[in-house]
Amino acid sequence: MKDLTPMMKQYLSIKEQHPDKIVLFQVGDFFEIFFDDAVVAAKAMDIVLTTRDSNKDNPIPLAGVPIHAADTYINKLLSKGFKVVICEQVEDPATAKGLVKREITRILTPGTVTDSEMLDESRNNYLAAITSLPGGEGAYFGLAAVDVSTGDFRINEWSGEEAAAHLAEELQRLQPSEYIYTSQEAAELLRPHLGVAEASSTVFEYKAAPEQVRTLICRQWGEEIWENLSLSRYPAAAAAAALALSYLEMLQHPARGRHFRTLEFLAPGGRMTVDGITARNLELTRTIREGKRQGSLLGLLDHCLTAMGRRLLRLWVEQPLTGRQMIEERLDAVEELLQNPLLRKKLRDILRQVLDIERFCSRLCSGRIGARELVALKGTLQKLEPLAGLLGECRSSLLHSLRQLPDFSALIERIGSVLVDDPPLQLREGGLIREGCSEEVDRLRRIARDAKGWLLEFEKGERERTGIKSLRVGYNRNFGYYIEVTRPNLGLVPPEYQRRQTLVNAERFITGPLKEMEEKITGAREQLCRLEYEIFEALREEVAAQAPLLQAAAGQLARLDCLQSLAEAAERYRYCRPRFTEENRLRIKGGRHPVVEQNSAERFVPNDLFMDEKASILIITGPNMAGKSTYIRSAALICLMAQMGSFVPAKEAELPILDRIFARVGASDDLSSGLSTFMVEMRETASILKEATNRSLLILDEIGRGTSTYDGMSIARSVLEYISRRIGAKTLFSTHYHELTRLEEELPGIKNYTMAVKEKGKEVIFLRRVVPGRSDKSYGINVARLAGLPLEVLLRAEAILAELETAAAKGSQLSLVPLVMEAPPQDERAMEVVEELKALDLNRITPLEALQQLYRLQQKLFQEEDNRGEIN
Ligand code: ADP
Repeated sequence: MKDLTPMMKQYLSIKEQHPDKIVLFQVGDFFEIFFDDAVVAAKAMDIVLTTRDSNKDNPIPLAGVPIHAADTYINKLLSKGFKVVICEQVEDPATAKGLVKREITRILTPGTVTDSEMLDESRNNYLAAITSLPGGEGAYFGLAAVDVSTGDFRINEWSGEEAAAHLAEELQRLQPSEYIYTSQEAAELLRPHLGVAEASSTVFEYKAAPEQVRTLICRQWGEEIWENLSLSRYPAAAAAAALALSYLEMLQHPARGRHFRTLEFLAPGGRMTVDGITARNLELTRTIREGKRQGSLLGLLDHCLTAMGRRLLRLWVEQPLTGRQMIEERLDAVEELLQNPLLRKKLRDILRQVLDIERFCSRLCSGRIGARELVALKGTLQKLEPLAGLLGECRSSLLHSLRQLPDFSALIERIGSVLVDDPPLQLREGGLIREGCSEEVDRLRRIARDAKGWLLEFEKGERERTGIKSLRVGYNRNFGYYIEVTRPNLGLVPPEYQRRQTLVNAERFITGPLKEMEEKITGAREQLCRLEYEIFEALREEVAAQAPLLQAAAGQLARLDCLQSLAEAAERYRYCRPRFTEENRLRIKGGRHPVVEQNSAERFVPNDLFMDEKASILIITGPNMAGKSTYIRSAALICLMAQMGSFVPAKEAELPILDRIFARVGASDDLSSGLSTFMVEMRETASILKEATNRSLLILDEIGRGTSTYDGMSIARSVLEYISRRIGAKTLFSTHYHELTRLEEELPGIKNYTMAVKEKGKEVIFLRRVVPGRSDKSYGINVARLAGLPLEVLLRAEAILAELETAAAKGSQLSLVPLVMEAPPQDERAMEVVEELKALDLNRITPLEALQQLYRLQQKLFQEEDNRGEIN
């Protein structure tokens, strides 16, 4: 340490303050990174790792990037979850005495970036601030989700046993790129629920007394906010908001404080919470397999033309409405836009040219907007002028209300009168300000202009005076203005000419009057550039003061964009307007799966669906690949789309307003998680049984498939019984346990449906039609044939099946395949398990107890199998 250079000591003193971040340290034209940071960063940025002082015993690892290209590298670090400290030279090394002074100029973190190049325009970039407070039963969790790039600031809190799970679910939906926690405990408590967290996380020890929390929040949003949101009733949420604010303060984030829109709760009233698992299973915003937006419901419905619309549409998909009036208002608007293609075209033409005003605002408020962008903003605002006229004529109340955009004419006028139409990229080199805007600017420009005339005159005069015809006045960066005389004429040069530079064929001179003029010109130019920049900055401030109005306009435009997008989708895909009924009844005629129908090669076969109190649980059996999942998901998607105010893929749809939609899928092997997949399946099922009501829709796809047959069947059956007896939620249950179809006779409200198939020799043709009744075969071998399994395997499978069927008919033991097949446990034991399961009151046990019970029950069955194995 003691033989470190002063510069390295300076570096270490900065690094010490930010042990958790990568420090980029300016050394001339480079940002350098040292020690462990260098090792990590070189790998993350994919650059070479070298060493400093390599001839010494302990060379220091070093990685460096040129400053002019630094943004790309910094993005790489941020996208991998690192936080970055930029430490720059703050004095000119040429004039500095001793060590150059350096200061931290920016701290960048994945959750607080505002540069558009670093962000995906179609989604919010959230920083999640998480607090935990001790509560009555379990802990309280508070969350503030802040998108610094758009000014979105939302909070929520959860208490009770499931608090952590609920919070985790919300986080799964928001996909924050950075987490901050008040304490290590909060981080630990949440970790098991978050799975593998890729996002960067920080524990930011922040302990604020409730009074301080209140002060912070009120300073940001005004005194009223505290009462308006009844924040004293939400201490954890309020603390989370304060945590986020303090964190931004600590980062000295330039956008802090200024452009945040009002504080809101995450799920405002009148919205349906779609839990993360449902969203995933229904592929609402990304596909399960590839995690892509394309192929999801959102990808399909998104015909937005602005980034603001695209982000809002995601929220609409994730949080459908539950208030009939609001839904009908959206539907009215969509219908009007659908029926009036000319209006839609005009609106689309406008929206297409609109800037991302939300993100513009955050950069505006942090002083990172150039003159060109202000002119672009003016262009956008001008484009909006015809909107009021267009929307003013609309019948639908929502469209009509959107016409009330703030009046930006004064702002347009102001930008236009200050800035030239095509300003340069550089802000400090003049040329920004329009003629006539400032007398001083005009005067300084006149000096420069006059100087040109003066120089021409001067050149002419000197030619005459010296008699050198080829004498020429020129300018270069290093020497300024000069008089150039070619070599043959050097004899004619007057004595007062002072030589400055010798070229091959000529010499360059200056004179007193030329030098004087040069100083005047440079002085004026410097002054002009400075003044122009000042005027520009003042204008930028003036525009920034209008940020709240701009944000309001952004919100309106986003809504308009979503509505036209839904109309566009309705037209393209031939959707119909859903009707809502107060009855607890669901009737869909000719329903389709919106995504499958667009992507599948075969013609999509529409199906009907009817559910009411007498048919509230439908059990759908049928061979693999017949279309069960597609059918039950269609129903969920149709209901969800309807409640977001969209038209739906059906011929007719009469729907109840649902309070929740749940979709669960039986464990399959591609679920990658540390937990046993069956455990996950059960935990997910348990959460539905607690939360569903008779106004909910449950989509249960092969629940119980993640364990052995009898186990799975028992669980499936008991789950169905529970739903039927205790909950009354509309349930679509697909299964390959044909035995479950017996429930139709045993319990009211259960109806069997099956996927129609036609057998043609050994081939099975899927008709894709849903018909009443049950299927008694699983046709697995036929599917295997379709999948191209070798003939030998197929023939063997058929033989085994035949044997199994005969054995089952005779009730005898199997001879052919005793070890390969999973032999069923004795019925008695299975029934015991079933009985025990029936007796379980899932409402009263914690998830952990449920797991323990399940484990015990499973062991019982395994034991049974083991015993049998030994006998064999
Ligand atoms: P299952 O759940 O019965 O195994 P899926 O619902 O996964 O079957 O359907 C398998 C495939 O069949 C789907 O990927 C889709 O391509 C096709 N399919 C399903 N339903 C229909 C339909 N109604 N019309 C046309 N093709 C369909």
